Amino acid sequence: MINDVKKWLKDRLSEERYSHSLGSEEAARELAQRFDVDENKAAYAALIHDNAKCVSTDELLKIINENNLSVSETEKQSTKTLHAPVSAYLAQQELGVNDTDILNAIRYHTIGRIDMSDLEKIVFLADKIEPNTREPEFREKIIQKLNQTNNLDEAILLCYDATIRSLLDRRLIISPETIEVWNNLIY
Ligand code: FE
Ligand code: FE
Repeated sequence: MINDVKKWLKDRLSEERYSHSLGSEEAARELAQRFDVDENKAAYAALIHDNAKCVSTDELLKIINENNLSVSETEKQSTKTLHAPVSAYLAQQELGVNDTDILNAIRYHTIGRIDMSDLEKIVFLADKIEPNTREPEFREKIIQKLNQTNNLDEAILLCYDATIRSLLDRRLIISPETIEVWNNLIY
């Protein structure tokens, strides 16, 4: 078992990614307090959500294949999202995390999914609005939405809105899962 999680994490990440992780931890703690979710669980999940972010694509695919991690074909095509299932896997293997909600929050922090728990939603949002590495303008937009609506789903819709627009602008594939979450939340 690893006692010093921050040291373990720091050794695995670049300085910028580590700073992003600490920012996410803080952002998740604030959101958890606000939305009445277990603060320590949210902070911990957010802290370690990107632990495999600096692992090479080849290595990520190797870990996914060797351990039969469930990753859809569209997900496998986008190298940017492969770190999520592996981060969850390593949290379980190396840190001994066995809380399903924490593991799902890490697993789905990139693509999201239908019926996310509040903890999952908080980690999803904390990743996007943490102050250390995220764009202040977008961060402000999300925080404003939260202040206006006090609703996590409304803030998540804004994230999907931005993601889908940017995929359209760059003429990239929009995965069916992304559309599914959008359709589900828009009701
Ligand atoms: Fe990530
Ligand atoms: Fe992240």
